[in-house]
Amino acid sequence: MKVTIDPDAGFCFGVERAIATAEAELGKNNSLLCLGEIVHNTAELDRLTAKGLKIVSQEDFSSIVGEKVMFRAHGEPPETYEKARAAGIEIIDASCPIVLRLQQKINSIYLESKGEVQIVIFGKPGHPEVIGLQGQARNSAIVVHKPEDITAINFTRPVQVFCQTTMSHESYDAICLLIQKAMKSAGNTDLTVNKSFCRQVSGRTLTLKEFALANDLIVFASDKKSSNGEFLFNVCRSVNPTSYFVHGPSELDPAWFENVESVGVTGATSTPGWLMEEVADSIENIAQQL
Ligand code: SF4
Repeated sequence: MKVTIDPDAGFCFGVERAIATAEAELGKNNSLLCLGEIVHNTAELDRLTAKGLKIVSQEDFSSIVGEKVMFRAHGEPPETYEKARAAGIEIIDASCPIVLRLQQKINSIYLESKGEVQIVIFGKPGHPEVIGLQGQARNSAIVVHKPEDITAINFTRPVQVFCQTTMSHESYDAICLLIQKAMKSAGNTDLTVNKSFCRQVSGRTLTLKEFALANDLIVFASDKKSSNGEFLFNVCRSVNPTSYFVHGPSELDPAWFENVESVGVTGATSTPGWLMEEVADSIENIAQQL
């Protein structure tokens, strides 16, 4: 059996940058506070926790006055910066520059239109990146995730739509079409669709499909908490139905690999390379025993 690790898999630029920032701080002080999970991957979190990383929430601000706190790649709304500064916290900002640019764009549209334009965000309600984006419009942005959510939009007013950076193109196009039709029925064509995808995720779709097709079976290592993990796993499964989602080597089932000649190991933009290597090693061990 041939086992191949996807050469395009591994951390995206934003997560890699945040983890490098955390490792540099941990190297100096053996401890670092991070606001929320630095990456949506439990195995990587466990590794960093063993080095001294501690996850804190905003409720902890009053008890960590004067400490350094890292903001992760997902970005934060302006209120979080205000609360941290008010508590005398030193911010280490590891927000991804791609997310920051999107935040700035939403903020400038909100301010320039004086709230006249409705800002609609296609994303997962409650996801940290979405909360950060909503904050750029003083929490007036309408979050849509399912088709029925669009009823919260006033179709007679101007609309600017954005998407959470890791959403799928197809579902974004479908939601935007629904909004466009509803606005047209209300006699309004003042709709702007902003393609705010992250290329680090959407650019992987094509190569991931090729990789999934080139192997008999795919093992996708990620975490259920990862939005792009869910999206990219579905990309694999759409072209290769023999695709399995695992959190790590312990979830591999030897029965999957009987009579299989080639296995591809891949993952999300939050999956560390070392985890994919561990998964690939375990598959090779299983193969020797079949
Ligand atoms: S997926 Fe893209 S936008 Fe999100 S952290 Fe990674 S590089 Fe940044």
